[in-house]
Amino acid sequence: MSVNQQAHTGPPYGQPQPGYQGYQQPAYGGQSLPGVPQAQYGAYNGPVPGYQQPVPPQGYFPSLGFPSKGSPVSLNSDTSSLAPNFIGSLRAPPTSGAPPPASGASHPSGHLAYSQFDHGDVQNGIPASAAPVQRPPASQPFLPGSAPTPVSQISTFQQYGPPPASVQQLRNHMAGMTIGGTAASAPPPAGLGYGVGPSSYPPTTGAPRPPAMPGPPLPGQTVAGPPSSQPNHISSPPPPSTMAGLHPGPPMSGLHGPPPPTHPPQPGYQMQQNGSFGQMRGPPPNYGGAYPGAPNYGSPPGPPPPPKRLDPDSIPSPQLNELPPQQKPRHRIDPDAIPSPIQVIEDDRNNRGSEPFVTGVRGQVPPLVTTNFLVKDQGNASPRYIRCTSYNIPCTSDMAKQSQVPLAAVIKPLAALPPEETVPYLVDHGESGPVRCNRCKAYMCPFMQFIEGGRRFQCCFCSCVTEVPPHYFQHLDHTGKRVDFYDRPELSLGSYEFLATVDYCKNNKFPSPPAFIFMIDVSYNAVKSGLVRLICEELKSLLDYLPREGNMEESAIRVGFVTYNKVLHFYNVKSSLAQPQMMVVSDVADMFVPLLDGFLVNVNESRTVIASLLDQIPEMFADTRETETVFAPVIQAGLEALKAAECAGKLFIFHTSLPIAEAPGKLKNRDDRKLINTDKEKTLFQPQTSFYNNLAKDCVAQGCCVDLFLFPNQYLDVATLGVVPYQTGGSIYKYAYFQLETDQYRFLNDLRRDVQKEVGFDAVMRVRTSTGIRATDFFGAFYMSNTTDVEMAGLDCDKTITVEFKHDDKLSEDSGALLQCALLYTSCAGQRRLRIHNLSLNCCTQLADLYRNCETDTLINYLAKYAYRGVLSSPVKTVRDALINQCAQILACYRKNCASPSSAGQLILPECMKLLPVYLNCVLKSDVLQPGPEVTTDDRAYVRQLVTSMDVAETNVFFYPRLLPLTKADVDSDSLPAAIRNSEERLSKGDIYLLENGLNIFVWVGVNVQQGLIQNLFGVSSFSQISNALSTLPVLENPFSKKVRAIVDMLQGQRSRYMKLIIVKQEDKLEMLFKHFLVEDKSLSGGASYVDFLCHMHKEIRQLLS
Ligand SMILES: [Zn+2]
Repeated sequence: MSVNQQAHTGPPYGQPQPGYQGYQQPAYGGQSLPGVPQAQYGAYNGPVPGYQQPVPPQGYFPSLGFPSKGSPVSLNSDTSSLAPNFIGSLRAPPTSGAPPPASGASHPSGHLAYSQFDHGDVQNGIPASAAPVQRPPASQPFLPGSAPTPVSQISTFQQYGPPPASVQQLRNHMAGMTIGGTAASAPPPAGLGYGVGPSSYPPTTGAPRPPAMPGPPLPGQTVAGPPSSQPNHISSPPPPSTMAGLHPGPPMSGLHGPPPPTHPPQPGYQMQQNGSFGQMRGPPPNYGGAYPGAPNYGSPPGPPPPPKRLDPDSIPSPQLNELPPQQKPRHRIDPDAIPSPIQVIEDDRNNRGSEPFVTGVRGQVPPLVTTNFLVKDQGNASPRYIRCTSYNIPCTSDMAKQSQVPLAAVIKPLAALPPEETVPYLVDHGESGPVRCNRCKAYMCPFMQFIEGGRRFQCCFCSCVTEVPPHYFQHLDHTGKRVDFYDRPELSLGSYEFLATVDYCKNNKFPSPPAFIFMIDVSYNAVKSGLVRLICEELKSLLDYLPREGNMEESAIRVGFVTYNKVLHFYNVKSSLAQPQMMVVSDVADMFVPLLDGFLVNVNESRTVIASLLDQIPEMFADTRETETVFAPVIQAGLEALKAAECAGKLFIFHTSLPIAEAPGKLKNRDDRKLINTDKEKTLFQPQTSFYNNLAKDCVAQGCCVDLFLFPNQYLDVATLGVVPYQTGGSIYKYAYFQLETDQYRFLNDLRRDVQKEVGFDAVMRVRTSTGIRATDFFGAFYMSNTTDVEMAGLDCDKTITVEFKHDDKLSEDSGALLQCALLYTSCAGQRRLRIHNLSLNCCTQLADLYRNCETDTLINYLAKYAYRGVLSSPVKTVRDALINQCAQILACYRKNCASPSSAGQLILPECMKLLPVYLNCVLKSDVLQPGPEVTTDDRAYVRQLVTSMDVAETNVFFYPRLLPLTKADVDSDSLPAAIRNSEERLSKGDIYLLENGLNIFVWVGVNVQQGLIQNLFGVSSFSQISNALSTLPVLENPFSKKVRAIVDMLQGQRSRYMKLIIVKQEDKLEMLFKHFLVEDKSLSGGASYVDFLCHMHKEIRQLLS
């Protein structure tokens, strides 16, 4: 083998095009399902010609020779013979067939020895010159022009002097601030947003029906084209000189350099933000010339404004005159003078939303997650894949400890990208596989240093020198760069994929395509609610939308079906059968799969048999009286089926109740609200048996991922049932008190998205770091059998893993710090791949540099996950106190080391962390850490697990919901109305608002809203006629209705789950539920208001400093 550019034997390189020609891009081609907001996903499937396709005559035999001891039953069209009574007679233990394979005996012990894979010979792709690519036209407008001009932000430079003494006063004040006289002491609301029970809603009977469920998916519009439609690799011009100027000198030059490019203009650490929150980016009126506008990163910073401070007792509240008389306490802290999340978000959007974020510079802080921006990969992974708590990390462990700023990265390895961005190129080095460092096994990346004329390279992670394999050799140019630098993704991009060789496969065998198994609870509740029929109807069309590789005509994924209550029913849907066959397994103690041939099938081949089965299932169980269910045996059955088929896959389990039937994994109702606020509260979050942990381990070994859809009418122990989904990288969805009319649309949207989304199987992730730091802790939905490898049976595009780093040596400012995240996984077509993300960070010897380059949203993501894990082992109060203490230390360290001397009465926050107090308070008063009386144990366990896999954008809106005044929306533009702060005092009785947090959308209607608006939005003539049982907004032909529905659709499209829509009328009892999400206010469960909490933090900081 010689140098690169030789002919390729592997998967072909595509059509030549500018940029990385022909690097195969694993795009999921295809179309969207109607009704599934797809804003953030590329659709996956191609048009499917409906359901009428002729069935191929030949059956599909996935594998043979599986022992059977079940009893085959033909599913005749005469379903009466399969009425539950009859089924009952089949429950007797099967008598025929060989014994099942010893269950649990054969887990492939092949936890992948990741680090042992060797590198070898390498082939390479055809280089081509890179061409610049035009920026796509305007990014979506998102809170545009109409900035929320909060009244006189010029109240800058105030301080938060009046601490504890005024707290009570403020509390009283806040409590008195209600809009329509709804006393803050009103009875607590019943039910919570994500698990609202019937008690919290008026009965929905008689409520208007939601719009009819959309029919089967239509072959559609947005077929993601072949690679040619992809934006080409962007080889942008060199970073603008202004950018270079922002990183003065080779290493960061200490304290007095200009600020980092991507940050709010903050010239020099000595410029504290003592109270001047908001309006920092734009040309603030008061700043005069101090700030030269500095709208975009890249602009040179201006001289610092003179620090201004005011005496605590002389805070003029600029709004005072505008407040009603009863709201004018003497030393009131002006809410407009404390840092406003809305302002920070708005400023970042204005300053950073217009330019693409180019990743060529080390340690750049990306725009906020709330800003719409494009990313150009020039050597570092996009922030859509990795975000860090700080992009400039302390050189020493002592510094890190002193600051208490956690060093963590939030990684979303398979994140979906907007259509304008390029999905990672797939690099195929043929049989030799990727080039790696001999010692630490890091993968070839842009930071490897080629030396000795290109014959060797020095590892950027461990410094070991490795021989370049002969076929990978290339000459260096005069700067020491390989001449093929721009032709190889692994040399010039932050993110790319390698096609894995057989060495990276389990048992040294290339994997089979994965399988999806649908497992439907057919007990009394599931049948009676209409759920079973709904699922079966939906699957008939949804199965045509299974994920497939971009260039494949049909999905490679096979499907299987199981129904269950106390026993399990397996179905043979082999294409050669005239009718499906059922096999009942009643021996749930030792689960086995009674058939293999005909259980997992190709959808197209078995189309008519599957359709027949899905028609018959609801009929077969229509009269069931069985109320008890099993659960663990269901998972075991799916696991055994995947084992027998020797493939990875996903189980979709639709389950309704606490599994109390006699079976392994049987549970008892152990819910006990009396444990709240006791030392035993943690047991509510812990599984009640270790059985499921062991099962999860077996599932992970097989690549069996579990997605769980729950439909409980009462406690069903999410903490225990969630163990397997959680540890296998799966998802949990919960629809409490499921009612067909109000919940089907949401459930079906979730199901469609869940089935279609990009997912990798049998995944192992490792994060390598350069010498000096290492990954020490991991948060997310996964399993770990050792201290370094994160294993996930499945990993989808929404799942995030948060990784914490600690020092194990000194870092240097010169070399910075590097992360490389390598994810080995099996694609939906069964291809084994490695996805690599690289990120380079700066290192500092001055604390000010650390504080200048932090990202609070990411910090909150980490802190929430850390705290939510803490409740498993510590009393909730301990966890809360630890959080407060850590944040106080972070801020005190800044005050002590980075701020210039000032009176102790001043609260001085770092610019990048000025929202830390308000966001932290939201975490502290969240349902997991401080539940209100209406929050159920299952709700808490559910949210705890959800948050653990959230990315930064999701935690941001989850903890600080987005509140939009709908009546301020411009019906003639595509934009959203400017958001407002989450406080009741911001609401006006004459307006309608929308609040979303990623799980719910509330539409709040003030009592004084004009009749015309009510008519236009709800189609009724008065406030009193608005039904709060609506689960969707009526479709009315007027601009306001269209605008609001467009906003709702847009928001739904931005979230990974379909949000529940809840209509709230002011002064209605549901309003208490809504107020729970006005997170700047004091909460009913005792959570502090923002103002109170800020005072409290100030006190804590002062104590630490004194
Ligand atoms: Zn190395």
